[in-house]
Amino acid sequence: MKVIVIGAGVVGTSTAWYLAAAGHEVTVIDRQPGAGQETSFANGGQISVSHAEPWANPQAIGKILRWMGKEDAPLLFRWRLDPELFRWGLRFLGECTTARTRANIRAIVSLASYSRDCLQQLRSDTGIEYDQLSRGILHFYTDEKEYKAAGMAADLMRDYGLDRRPVTAAECVAIEPALQDARAMIVGGHYTPSDESGDAHKFTRNLAGLAAAKGVRFLTGTPVVRLRGSRTRIESVELYNGEKLEADAYVVACGSFSNALLSPLGLSLPIYPAKGYSATFALEEGESFAPTVSLTDDGRKIVFSRLGNRLRVAGTAEMNGYGMGLNPVRCVAIAERTRQIFPHLRTVGAPEYWTGLRPATPSNVPFIGRAKPSNLYLNTGHGTLGWTMACGSGKALADMMSGHRAETDFPFQYRY
Ligand SMILES: Cc1cc2nc3c(=O)[nH]c(=O)nc-3n(C[C@H](O)[C@H](O)[C@H](O)COP(=O)(O)OP(=O)(O)OC[C@H]3O[C@@H](n4cnc5c(N)ncnc54)[C@H](O)[C@@H]3O)c2cc1C
Repeated sequence: MKVIVIGAGVVGTSTAWYLAAAGHEVTVIDRQPGAGQETSFANGGQISVSHAEPWANPQAIGKILRWMGKEDAPLLFRWRLDPELFRWGLRFLGECTTARTRANIRAIVSLASYSRDCLQQLRSDTGIEYDQLSRGILHFYTDEKEYKAAGMAADLMRDYGLDRRPVTAAECVAIEPALQDARAMIVGGHYTPSDESGDAHKFTRNLAGLAAAKGVRFLTGTPVVRLRGSRTRIESVELYNGEKLEADAYVVACGSFSNALLSPLGLSLPIYPAKGYSATFALEEGESFAPTVSLTDDGRKIVFSRLGNRLRVAGTAEMNGYGMGLNPVRCVAIAERTRQIFPHLRTVGAPEYWTGLRPATPSNVPFIGRAKPSNLYLNTGHGTLGWTMACGSGKALADMMSGHRAETDFPFQYRY
């Protein structure tokens, strides 16, 4: 089958890889000059099944109200006259019940665990390099109440098979000695030895190279302006220069911008851009006092990942439309927290700041499967965990498009 994948982020590129492996003739189209240049560019680097608790949970409403109006809040809703944000917000509230949170954690743990297995398999099949580390992820807490609340979600994850185990503050430091100076602040943690980390952009770029070598065609610097066809069948994609490309099937993997192509067909997904920040510190040669175990500072919604000779610090979320501007207050908050946790960190030069738009769904569960037009497929809305879930999402969709059942228990929905 001839397939066009629109979007060469980590999700679209993984999808193309697995479609090609299944024997399909694949073309990937992206508006950027290369693969992985938008949200997959400088994210937190975590392959974190242990991060399966969605933002929408029973404690979320209280926290969001408390954080309202604070420029450095970990999760900041900027309420304004934006019907898209209003509709998304209502659905988000609907996902905050205990029952919905349980169902969402179950789906995310299932897909994310499967995805981590697929990534490990792909790594051993191809030898792909992306500054990966398989040293687990340690969530640490500096607030007793937060730690207690996190225990409930962690129990659920364990029920669904994840090896996320509670650890004391002393054990946190034993797992990651770079936390020594923060020892007095830490009240406890959870360690998940099976989690990993690595550079999503390097992975995407290198996987695109491997896919191209297998015959996948990449059309970069090529914006798609329209999907042509009806609500029952797509006929072609129209490019910025008016050229039309035809295929048997089409995959939309455009992250936060998926609705721009879907809405004109009357298909609208609840995906809203959740702007996040990262700061990348170049580390001094020799002893830099930087961690090598990937860390999550849960209360601040910040993660730390060692990527070769760099430390990536990323997180926080701002619901404020599609703007990509850097808010200096949020940059300073990330840098100050880094210095507070690692006061002896040895870096070279100033950190590189970046923002990216997470394609957030109200439940944090992505849309993967067939849409209403019978030859249109979706792989989008991966929110906070697109890097973690990319390989599994790509493999599952390629299996379904090849007429097989997906190998993971996940609510694949077919009729958007
Ligand atoms: C600060 C931050 C930290 C994060 N940390 C982590 C983490 O630690 N672990 C984790 O698992 N996830 C993390 N994420 C989430 C993860 O980065 C995203 O979920 C993931 O990158 C989404 O990938 P994607 O391929 O769906 O989207 P993208 O990477 O945005 O790719 C979409 C592609 O579609 C292309 N495109 C869009 N519209 C068009 C069009 N009309 N024509 C042609 N091309 C088009 C774009 O150019 C882009 O290349 C983080 C995100 C942020 C912002």
